[in-house]
Amino acid sequence: MGRSPKLLKMERLWNRVKTCVRCDREYVNKYVFGDGSVNARVMIVGEGPGEEEDATGHPFVGEAGELLTDILNMAGFPRREELFIANAVKCRRTSRRGDRLKNKKPSDGEVARCSVFLQNQLEIVKPRVVVGLGGTAIASLKGLKTKDVKSTQMAGLTEKGPNCWYLWTYHPAFPIYRGRDVAIIEQMVSHFKKAKELSRGRI
Ligand code: URA
Repeated sequence: MGRSPKLLKMERLWNRVKTCVRCDREYVNKYVFGDGSVNARVMIVGEGPGEEEDATGHPFVGEAGELLTDILNMAGFPRREELFIANAVKCRRTSRRGDRLKNKKPSDGEVARCSVFLQNQLEIVKPRVVVGLGGTAIASLKGLKTKDVKSTQMAGLTEKGPNCWYLWTYHPAFPIYRGRDVAIIEQMVSHFKKAKELSRGRI
């Protein structure tokens, strides 16, 4: 069977992403384009690759990724690969501490330069629901600066866009940072349950 038009478009976009030179790439190993189904009804957007994602080329494969997978399972999404999971920025942003590289929050400029790729992915997948995880993802999706996004106050809120629903929730690193805060994890599960209902046109 031939590759679908959506898949061909996605492959063309991937070729553009992996040759992107808009930002500093000195410490980038792999571009992290995003994984999943081009026909997904739900698309998840995170911040950007960390060390494990940079090493493997896949989104959400570290500790935050494992928690995200658990949350998805608890919310009734047993197969991650049926969703499309991407990030606001497609390559790891770093700062130096002595000899060590640390993950850095992407700057507004980096988010803005990469947003065309995320928008192109949305145009290709055409999901019914886009779930933005945390401030950087929300800022990119809404075209705002991160300082103007109060992500914890927005968690659980939905917005109807012209082509899909947006649902905002916490970044999975947030409950981890707070000692694997069960109350936050439970909230995230209920947010993803809402995403599922929205994707079925039930709300
Ligand atoms: N955090 C993100 O926002 N994205 C990843 O891919 C991994 C961790």
